[in-house]
Amino acid sequence: MIKHKISDIVATFSGFVKKSRNKIRYRNLSDLINPAFGNKDKLLAYNKSRVTGPEPCVCHAPSRSLYFDIHGKATACCFNRANVLGKFPENSISEIIDGGKRRFLQTELCRQNFMYGCQHCHKLIEAGNFDGAESRLYDNLKDQAYVPSEIIFELDNTCNLECAMCHGEFSSSIAKRQGLDKIKHPYSPEFLKQLEAYTPSLKVAKFLGGEPFLISIYYEIWDLIIKLNPKCKINLQTNGTVFNDRVKSYLEKGNFYVGISVDSLQKERFESIRKNAVFENVMDNIDRFIEISKKKNNYVNISVCPMQQNWEEIPAIVEYCNRKNVFVYFNTVYTSGFAISEMPEDKLLEILEFYKSVKIEGTGIIAKRNIRFFENLTSNIESWYAAKEEASRPYRRRHLWNTHMLELKMLGKLKNHENLSPVITEVFKPLEKEFYLSDNDLISLENIKEEDVVQSAENESVEEIRKRILLFIETGRFNAK
Ligand code: SF4
Repeated sequence: MIKHKISDIVATFSGFVKKSRNKIRYRNLSDLINPAFGNKDKLLAYNKSRVTGPEPCVCHAPSRSLYFDIHGKATACCFNRANVLGKFPENSISEIIDGGKRRFLQTELCRQNFMYGCQHCHKLIEAGNFDGAESRLYDNLKDQAYVPSEIIFELDNTCNLECAMCHGEFSSSIAKRQGLDKIKHPYSPEFLKQLEAYTPSLKVAKFLGGEPFLISIYYEIWDLIIKLNPKCKINLQTNGTVFNDRVKSYLEKGNFYVGISVDSLQKERFESIRKNAVFENVMDNIDRFIEISKKKNNYVNISVCPMQQNWEEIPAIVEYCNRKNVFVYFNTVYTSGFAISEMPEDKLLEILEFYKSVKIEGTGIIAKRNIRFFENLTSNIESWYAAKEEASRPYRRRHLWNTHMLELKMLGKLKNHENLSPVITEVFKPLEKEFYLSDNDLISLENIKEEDVVQSAENESVEEIRKRILLFIETGRFNAK
């Protein structure tokens, strides 16, 4: 326990030294920013928020980390799946690690170029959700000259749940329901053999799924880590449904940091999102995970997917984490029908006003950090709202007009055909009303051509033209189509 505390103090101190050094070294960071980035102020603010201080390299994932997916593909992280650095078993682990693709991506990220598959982080930085940007997770990882200090394993999709926002690639149960074949991963004993060489230098190993506690190859990798590098942090993301003697014994002998997915604290909603899970069992298991992690002086985090289905509950979940003294982490959900970003503008405003009005209870470092993460989520939603508000502005009806003004406008279109003016005057005679027009309505009014008005006045009845005028007042269009 004391050892862990000392290592935490050492890490905090070295982070402080690095931050002070970077602040001096990159005090003119503004001059080093790639003009192609876009919102320079946001990137500078992001840099200000980094634990190790500002620096031109926006992300260190390519040189410090490596991610393996279920098909054998290796990438820099689980968000950048487009830029494949190599594929097992066609490429050995050494070939992937020593290959030029990692170096290339690292160089580009040091030029703040996110175009090689890093759009996820780019968007979050531009949205001001700095804590949500995956890139910052790599700032604190040890630089070992391209020898990974972290490996992320997403090797198998065996899972007992069929979460509403998930799909067959990540859950074998969903794949089975859909009649799809089980994905056969390529990770043979040869993979474990090759992994041995890189295990001693690992600081962190992350395990995603599927459900990690149901994936047999993970137990073999944990055995390897516990044998060759017992201090290595074993970070995993579980759905919280599996807890048995085997799980308990691994948690006790390894240096595990467990993240549990929770999207609701209400049984009905929880079970409708996390299909096949039993709410009470997961809640009990969370307490078991917390108890073991406390004994080991490690920490637990609760990982939340804020979605259309549960946005009202997010502040309550943050308070729950504060009460339990565990970290909260927010995922960004992109799945259609679930993503908050695709909600209509007025709904986003409602969420925003609610989040800004709540006062989340909690004291201490973890609670303060959780509240900051919640504020970052709010800022992310604010940026989605702002984009929709800006896009809808030209369509918003806010210019007060009346039929007399519209009549003058139409008569103006007939200035070279004054003989037709009485038709227009007749059209407007029974009309007397006020109405609102948008910027877009005014543009379409300006765009009505003289010859079209002439043609209408010559060929259509007064009643027909009046219908067009009323249609315009109602919809901003002169034609029904
Ligand atoms: S910038 Fe983001 S997406 Fe790209 S490698 Fe880093 S963490 Fe992954």
